[in-house]
Amino acid sequence: MNDRNSEKERIMNQYRVRQTRQILAITAAIFLVLLAAVIHKRPDLFGTYSRSSLFAAQAITIAVFLGFTNWNWRCPSCAAFLSSDIYRRRCKKCGTHLQ
Ligand SMILES: [Zn+2]
Repeated sequence: MNDRNSEKERIMNQYRVRQTRQILAITAAIFLVLLAAVIHKRPDLFGTYSRSSLFAAQAITIAVFLGFTNWNWRCPSCAAFLSSDIYRRRCKKCGTHLQ
């Protein structure tokens, strides 16, 4: 009984860590994509960069974000990929309570 509770707690803690990492990654990705757009619109602020290098920076940001999400955004119990709902209560695949 106690063992099952601590296992549950471990999974919920792990989910919280993953959720926090995911929110930070979303924030950073949005920030970097917007930053590239701002740099493009306001060359007086940071200097002039070519459209293609800013587009490449955005594409890399999104690729890194997707790679990170693929690694991070998984059920702590069965490692199934979690869907786009960042505040989900249980895993769709194994039914484990996540929070
Ligand atoms: Zn699961």
